[in-house]
Amino acid sequence: MVATIMSGKLLSDELNEEMKLEVIKLKEKNVTPGLVVVLVGEDSASQTYVRNKEKRANTLGIHSVVEKYPEKMTEMELLRVIDRLNKDDHFHGILVQLPLPKHIDSTKILNAIRPEKDVDGFHPINMGKLVIGQPERIPCTPYGIMKLLQRYEIDIEGKNAVVIGRSNIVGKPMAQLLLMKNATVTIAHSKTKNLAAVAKEADILIVAIGRGHMITKDFVKPGAVVIDVGMNRDENGKLIGDVKSDEVQEVAGHLTPVPKGVGPMTITMLMYQTIESAKELLN
Ligand code: NDP
Repeated sequence: MVATIMSGKLLSDELNEEMKLEVIKLKEKNVTPGLVVVLVGEDSASQTYVRNKEKRANTLGIHSVVEKYPEKMTEMELLRVIDRLNKDDHFHGILVQLPLPKHIDSTKILNAIRPEKDVDGFHPINMGKLVIGQPERIPCTPYGIMKLLQRYEIDIEGKNAVVIGRSNIVGKPMAQLLLMKNATVTIAHSKTKNLAAVAKEADILIVAIGRGHMITKDFVKPGAVVIDVGMNRDENGKLIGDVKSDEVQEVAGHLTPVPKGVGPMTITMLMYQTIESAKELLN
């Protein structure tokens, strides 16, 4: 068997075209979706991420602003910035680029964002709503994965889903979303015993660990859907996933590639939720 490759890049391109039309419709009603990204300090990876988000927003016609602040900014100053942006009607989405400098408590900052404008879906109110089955803003990576599963017509109900990784931004919300679609969900992590045996039970295997090529074919049930969230660099600096794709694709039924799999969907869902947030303001 050779796995069907699930292209996040293709789905992203499709969703981008739909979103462009949505933005045009909103503009006809005098609403321009707005996204503000707050960047504190000079972290070079963060600067690249922020540039990519700004570029994508501009392509879609979303009003996008990046507010840059010096590394030495205080927590109180940043809280004041968030307060101002919460009240600014031009912005339907607020994103604080992580990591923040060490002297700033990022939990405190993320909790200060108005939940309606929390397009990253990290606010405790949004997390709580997801857990009680009333999602509003959803963390973008797992949301993007759900869109991919839908696009490739993967049947979720009654299936065994195993999520490896329990972070607040990927693993936990991923498990909740699969549960909402009536999968039987197992969450595995670094203390899980016999990980390969647990993973091999999965019809749908989501891998969000952060260890390059850790998941070999011995972890995969024949025909399983394997979603590789990992973004790691190998010794040559090449981007690789958590899944050893060359051998897993011989066993799996479906597989997401790295790059062009889950990655492009994350940024797409960020834009998607910004537009959703702008639409809600119309109602
Ligand atoms: P975290 O480091 O926050 O979480 C990693 C999880 O993997 C933890 O729950 C940890 O367990 C578990 N883990 C670590 N080692 C093992 C092991 N040997 N066996 C089983 N479980 C293990 O990472 P994130 O969730 O933030 O990210 C995971 C990966 O996904 C990273 O490579 C990251 O770069 C990538 N990522 C990609 C995105 C995209 O857009 N494509 C977006 C976000 C992340 P424990 O809790 O016990 O420590």
